[in-house]
Amino acid sequence: MLSDRDRIFTNLYGLEDWRLAGARARGEWDGTKALIAKGRDWIVEEVKLSGLRGRGGAGFPTGLKWSFMPKSSPDGRPSYLVVNADESEPGTCKDRDILRHEPHKLIEGCLLAGVGIGAHVGYIYIRGEFHAEYKRLQAAIDEAYAAGLIGKNACGSGFDFDLYVTRGAGAYICGEETALLESLEGKKGMPRLKPPFPAAVGLYGCPTTVNNVESIAVVPTILRRGASWFASLGRPKNTGTKIFCISGHVNRPCNVEEELGIPLKELIERHAGGVRGGWDNLLAVIPGGSSVPLLPKHICDTVLMDFDSLREVRSGLGTAGVIVMDRSTDVIAAIARLSRFYKHESCGQCTPCREGTGWMWRVMERMVQGRAEPEEIDVLEQVTRQVEGHTICALGDAAAWPIQGLIRHFRPLMEERIAAYKAGLRAASMPMAAE
Ligand code: NAD
Ligand code: SF4
Repeated sequence: MLSDRDRIFTNLYGLEDWRLAGARARGEWDGTKALIAKGRDWIVEEVKLSGLRGRGGAGFPTGLKWSFMPKSSPDGRPSYLVVNADESEPGTCKDRDILRHEPHKLIEGCLLAGVGIGAHVGYIYIRGEFHAEYKRLQAAIDEAYAAGLIGKNACGSGFDFDLYVTRGAGAYICGEETALLESLEGKKGMPRLKPPFPAAVGLYGCPTTVNNVESIAVVPTILRRGASWFASLGRPKNTGTKIFCISGHVNRPCNVEEELGIPLKELIERHAGGVRGGWDNLLAVIPGGSSVPLLPKHICDTVLMDFDSLREVRSGLGTAGVIVMDRSTDVIAAIARLSRFYKHESCGQCTPCREGTGWMWRVMERMVQGRAEPEEIDVLEQVTRQVEGHTICALGDAAAWPIQGLIRHFRPLMEERIAAYKAGLRAASMPMAAE
């Protein structure tokens, strides 16, 4: 269990002052000038040594991503930092609480990341629905400017750094980093093909690093306390702390910062008051936001909550949005609801996703009723395989994986439902949500 001494987000619940005075009292903005003076290479090396992996969902090593940024710009192109605050993954509300209660951690992190990647300008792209969070973040940025912490000669370091906030307009796809860049440029938010990755061709065609809010907000503490401190938490290759968002059928839904690698069962029982009706009443958990496959109870009994452990059981840490379903859940309907979400949010740019998400959703709606042939379970599975890996961005994979997880772990339930429908047991009782 994470000790209070090792907690990074000490005001996650907003019990203390979020303003500059409160942030300073918690140790933020302490010695920032000296950290900047250690230089760009030192910052990148420390972040690499800490083992920090991206907290937006993909888990790509942050220090490595920073090292892709060019050291000089012979053609005069500037470099940019872009912070992805377009948090929209179902089951995920961690960045929201950082923006609400710890905005100065993010702002200081932006400055230090700016030094690390050689960017004098940063943009924070914030989800449009985060209206109150936007106002608070902007107020914190204004405070930082007024105190000389950012802007010209930030913290008296000689490094100039400007920070702007841009609001999204409610599209999930704008959380995909290249769709976000398109949107920032004032265009329709549609993902670009990668490569080139943003480090080579990003905002306005310039070298750009896109990082999640949580990834940036932990950087000041890593640099202050040292890479080896951060690396001592968690597990090898899965270091540090992580904010988990626990929702669904638990007694006390919550956000909590814990060490990576904590057992899922301990996470739920210690912090969320346990599963409604007790652990034996658990049916399944989606461990990392809606884009990763669900896990049935027998895997949840022992699985550890980190990138590699969850990959071993064919799921993922994703955003660490832990969605708990007890035995009262119609798990087929739950996954069908996610299919509807992905169909709605597909930007429609590539055929397998545009057509596949609609097709999968319509079949899933029939599966909820059992109004299908048993062979269609295999056909559905095959279609998910044709979508997965054949699209421009990860939304296609995200639409396919929850269905694959359902079929992998709950095929007998799907077959039972089809058999029951055929026997006339469910026909009248369940209306089609799709119609
Ligand atoms: P990705 O693996 O394609 O990329 C991860 C990051 O690493 C990107 O910034 C990418 O530019 C960089 N990268 C990867 N390979 C690189 C290379 N060879 N060279 C340079 N840079 C490289 O994943 P993604 O599409 O960015 O993210 C998918 C994840 O996002 C999903 O797993 C899901 O969990 C998560 N997600 C999060 C939210 C949210 O609200 N936070 C919403 C939807 C999805
Ligand atoms: Fe758009 Fe879907 Fe293709 Fe992504 S996978 S670019 S959301 S159509």
